[in-house]
Amino acid sequence: MKVDVLGSGSRGNAIVVDGQDGQGCLLVDCGFAPRVLASRMKLAGVVPEEVCGVILTHEHHDHISGLERACRRWHWPVAATSGTVVESGGAVHASHRLTRAKPLHLAGLTIEAMRTPHDAAESVGFILTHDRSGCRLAIVYDLGHWTANMACRLQGLDAIVVESNHDEEMLRFGPYPEFLKARVAGPKGHLSNADASELARTISHRGLRTIVLAHLSETNNTPGLVLGAMRRALRGSAFKGQIGVARQDSPIQFTIGPSGRAHQLALGL
Ligand SMILES: [Zn+2]
Ligand SMILES: [Zn+2]
Repeated sequence: MKVDVLGSGSRGNAIVVDGQDGQGCLLVDCGFAPRVLASRMKLAGVVPEEVCGVILTHEHHDHISGLERACRRWHWPVAATSGTVVESGGAVHASHRLTRAKPLHLAGLTIEAMRTPHDAAESVGFILTHDRSGCRLAIVYDLGHWTANMACRLQGLDAIVVESNHDEEMLRFGPYPEFLKARVAGPKGHLSNADASELARTISHRGLRTIVLAHLSETNNTPGLVLGAMRRALRGSAFKGQIGVARQDSPIQFTIGPSGRAHQLALGL
């Protein structure tokens, strides 16, 4: 399957997953205006009309800001948790309620929702299994910490898009007011580089081919710090794949194939 992270960060998030077997694509979050979505999709070689559904992680602005207008324009059905629908204050009209108990089948993918600890009503991450190949991709961002239970669910992945939001030192000594520093660093805030690296090391195995680090803070992080922390953590582990960093303002693309097939990460489309 082909994955396009159209953009990621506190100014907007959206990811397209295409099973590439003629069943359309899935959009994860819709935090960009339709005009921006359309132009980034074009760069990624995705046609908006081929999106057959949107699944939402949670109701924060950077994940749903373009949803209403995009759905009016392209008539995409939406799946979200009850908490996300209620807390969105009418911005999310979900034709399907996501629950952790029951997987959703869409675009040739089996979609499992996994609860994430975040200051939202009912935030979730996703494990997407490609029905034809069995390849597994996880998308996990906007979480204050990770748990052993989550790491257990994330075993045996082929690829993961995971939050690596802030460098702890940059956040501590940076310009944010104290209440915001406490929120970001708190157990329901955002995942630090150190925590993301530790999670990646815990779930690493030979079959994990791609790690994409996402939702970087533009104030409290740099791509260099993110990559450095991750490479140090994975040194000596079974991981032999590639590591990429998602950007706020341009898409990156990678493909996931059955074991042994080529996987490539195209930076800066
Ligand atoms: Zn966010
Ligand atoms: Zn959030």
